[in-house]
Amino acid sequence: MAAYDVIMIGGGVMACATAYHLLKKDPKIKVAIIEKDPTYTQSSTVLSDGNLRIQFNIKENIQMSQYGLEMLARFADEMAVSDNKPNVDFRQQGNLFLTNDAGVDAAKAGLELQKSLNCQVEWLSPDEVCQRYPFIDPTTIAGGTFGAQDGTMDPQAVLMGYKNKAIALGAEYIVGEVVDVETQAQQITGVRLLDGSKHQCRFAVNSAGAWGQAIARKLRIELPVEPVKRHVFYLETPLNPETTVPLTVFPSGLYIIQESGKHFTCGKSLSIDPIGFDFTFHRHLFVDYLWEELMQYIPACEHLKVIGGWTGLYDVNTFDHNAILGEYPSVKGFMLANGFSGHGFQQCHAVGRYLAELMLGVEPILDLSIFSPERIINNKPVYENPHKIV
Ligand SMILES: Cc1cc2nc3c(=O)[nH]c(=O)nc-3n(C[C@H](O)[C@H](O)[C@H](O)COP(=O)(O)OP(=O)(O)OC[C@H]3O[C@@H](n4cnc5c(N)ncnc54)[C@H](O)[C@@H]3O)c2cc1C
Repeated sequence: MAAYDVIMIGGGVMACATAYHLLKKDPKIKVAIIEKDPTYTQSSTVLSDGNLRIQFNIKENIQMSQYGLEMLARFADEMAVSDNKPNVDFRQQGNLFLTNDAGVDAAKAGLELQKSLNCQVEWLSPDEVCQRYPFIDPTTIAGGTFGAQDGTMDPQAVLMGYKNKAIALGAEYIVGEVVDVETQAQQITGVRLLDGSKHQCRFAVNSAGAWGQAIARKLRIELPVEPVKRHVFYLETPLNPETTVPLTVFPSGLYIIQESGKHFTCGKSLSIDPIGFDFTFHRHLFVDYLWEELMQYIPACEHLKVIGGWTGLYDVNTFDHNAILGEYPSVKGFMLANGFSGHGFQQCHAVGRYLAELMLGVEPILDLSIFSPERIINNKPVYENPHKIV
C-alpha cells in the first residue's frame, strides 16, 4: 500500500495547481494526483471558455484574479520543465459587462471596489459602448464596465503547465478512479481505487470537479454542488470589427467571445440546463433560446452560421455560487475545492496556493476563509453581484 501526505482526488486544474504549490513550498512532501481520465475528455477545465476577470463584487474573488494575473505573467518561466515552456496564449482583450437599469447600482458598486483594489476598470455609457463597438444596439443597455486586464486563454495549456511541473517536482500521477475515501476516528486515512488498490494519506483533497458531490458522499457529507450541463456555440458572424472585441456579457447573461475575426463563441446559463453527466450537444438550442436575444443586442447577427460547439459541466454551488474551500469541519484531513460554478478556472492559482498553505500549516498569504464550508453549515451565504454570470 503506497503512502502519501496528500492525495488529490481528480486531476483537473485545481488538483494540479494545488500539487504544484505544495511541492514548491515543501519539496519533500509526498503528493499523488489520482485521475480517472487522463485524456480529460469530460473535465470542466478543458471544456471551459478559459476566461479570467478581475470584475467581481466580492473582494476575495477580485484578489484571487489579481493573483492569477501575477501567476500568468510568469507562468511560462515558472512552469518550464527542461526547455519546455507552456504557452497559455493569454489574450487580454478585456471583458465588457453590459447592464440594464436594474443592474447599474451593483455594477457601479463592483467598479468602486475593484478601483479601490487598483484594478484597471472603467464605466462606459451606452454612447461610449456604441462608439467603441458600433454593432451593439445602445438602446438595449444602460452602460457597462470594461476591465482591460481581463482576458481569455487556453485552459488546457494551464492545466498541462501545472500538471507537468508538479510531476517534475515529484508528484505521482496515478490513472485510476477513486471509489472510496477511508477514515479512522474522523481522520482521513486513505482512498480505495476501482482496481482494488489502496493508498494511504493524511489529507485527501476533493478536487473532482462536477463529480465532487459523489466523492463527499463517500463520507456521508452532503455538499450543495450539482453537475449542470452548459452549451457553448461556435459562430461565424457577419461582423467584421476593426478593433478587438472584448468578451462581452449582455444584461440577460448572454455572452460572446471573439475567437478570431468574425468567429465568436457564445453561451448562456439557461434554466433548462439539465443536472447530470450528459454531454450531448444540441445545436438547435442556439436557435430556440439564444439567437433572438443575440439579435436584439447585435442586430447584424440576424445572419450567422452555427459552425459547431461543445458542452461541459459547471460544478454549481446551489447555496451561493461561490467556491467551497478548506477542511470539512467534522473530518480531519478532508479538504474541499468544490462548487466553483462558472468561474473556477481563473481561481486555480489562488486556490492551489491557499490549500497548500492550509495543509502545510502556514499562514495563508490571501485569507480565503470567507469561502470555508462552515458558512454552509452555519447558513451564511456569500453572494456575488446577482446581475453577473457566475
Ligand atoms: C462551458 C464552460 C465554460 C467555463 N468557462 C469558464 C471561464 O471562462 N472561466 C472560469 O474561470 N471558469 C470557467 N468554467 C468553470 C471551470 O471550467 C471550472 O470551475 C474548473 O475548470 C474546475 O476545475 P476542477 O479541477 O475543479 O474540475 P475538472 O477540470 O472537471 O477536474 C476534475 C477531474 O476529476 C476527475 N474525477 C472525477 N471523479 C473522479 C474519481 N472518482 N476518481 C478520479 N478522478 C475523478 C475528472 O475526470 C476530472 O478530470 C467553465 C466551465 C464550463 C463547463
